[in-house]
Amino acid sequence: MSVVARFAPSPTGYLHVGNARIALVNWLFARKHDGRFLLRLDDTDLERSRPEYAEAIEEDLRWLGLAWDAFARESDRMDRYADAFERLRAAGRLYPAYETPEELDYKRKRQLARGEPPRYDRAALRLSDAERSRLEGEGRRPHWRFRLADADVAWGDLVRGPTHFSGAHLGDPVLFRADRRPLYTLSSVVDDIDFGITHVIRGEDHVSNTAVQLQIFAALGADPAAIGFAHLSLLTDAGGGGLSKRHGSLSLRELRRQGIEPMAVNSLLARLGTSDPVEPFADLDELLAGFDLSCFGRAAPKFDPAELERLNEAVLHRLPFAAVRGRLAAMGLADMDAALWEAVRPNLKRLSDAAEWHAVCRRPVAPVADDPEFTAAAADLLPPEPWDAGTWAAWTAAVKARTGRSGKALFQPLRLALTGRDHGPELKTLLPQIGRERALARLQGKVA
Ligand code: GLU
Repeated sequence: MSVVARFAPSPTGYLHVGNARIALVNWLFARKHDGRFLLRLDDTDLERSRPEYAEAIEEDLRWLGLAWDAFARESDRMDRYADAFERLRAAGRLYPAYETPEELDYKRKRQLARGEPPRYDRAALRLSDAERSRLEGEGRRPHWRFRLADADVAWGDLVRGPTHFSGAHLGDPVLFRADRRPLYTLSSVVDDIDFGITHVIRGEDHVSNTAVQLQIFAALGADPAAIGFAHLSLLTDAGGGGLSKRHGSLSLRELRRQGIEPMAVNSLLARLGTSDPVEPFADLDELLAGFDLSCFGRAAPKFDPAELERLNEAVLHRLPFAAVRGRLAAMGLADMDAALWEAVRPNLKRLSDAAEWHAVCRRPVAPVADDPEFTAAAADLLPPEPWDAGTWAAWTAAVKARTGRSGKALFQPLRLALTGRDHGPELKTLLPQIGRERALARLQGKVA
């Protein structure tokens, strides 16, 4: 059996880290099994879906590097849902119900007050033809509910293990609105059947949907036992609360705007909630090698922005020049080369920080000449080029011998003169990048 997994976001907002985790796990699972990965937009909610969110979803997934093999949009598939309507109705599994939202709300409250699980009481099933005609005569248009079999539901969840739902807790779900537009509960199943989905991997918030959808699969003639279900526990914030209030700050676009590396996001999300350690991966292939769905546990993992920040640095420090060349060029640093990248890389918090160190090596810098006699003496001792990683040690040893200085008194004035800054990448690697001509002039107090 070849694996087909899918990521099915609703284009009602920007993707956040929680969505990205589901997308990534589906992508990794499909790749790991040489399978296919489908991107499906669940956009049957016309009021809340927006084209700009749909575009943003594609853009954000591309940014993460999660390419899809097939694409579908539910709003293009309305005829398939209409077909399912007819089939379910003919099979006696779909029935019209006339309650208004207010009436349903009232029923729910009464059930809760009696200590009963709030679920639809199936009053519509007991309506006589005359009562139905009267309601329709009043101008009421029915919505359509799926008649669940009164049975318990169980499946072997690939993350949660054996999962069981008592039939007594499930209420007949609405599958079609009064205007016959399908709800997600139905359209998702029709799509999963049509696209030959073999594995449904989604958030724990869908566990009760699965209990209901397993019956819809069967009612539409599919074998629900042939589909693997995995429900990942949802990410929480540091205090254990949901991330929903932080969607803005934890959206992928916001992280991208802040200069977070996509591989930092992927590295963290692939390991949160697993028994494996969080590590900085430089690319998705590296990540794929260690991926195993069975390592995901049931505990709710905490998403810590500070951990992402640390990982971002670690990822950046591992990125090869080839991985960043295009982005550096787009930042106006087309003359950056591999040697300069490797010299400045260990000092970066963000890729954009590379511009500063590029300028220190390739553009005129005003030296900080706090100690001009000392730096002029050091200038006299600068060895001839060619320079390499050993030049710094040889030169500073000579300066030390001549001036008697050591430690900070030796190194700090040199750094200030050479770079105009009191901190930065190791001078051992930076010095050959600055080059003799600029170094000499800066040590002499000149802008160079
Ligand atoms: N549109 C649903 C969501 O974003 C999809 C759930 C599913 O994967 O079936 O939560």
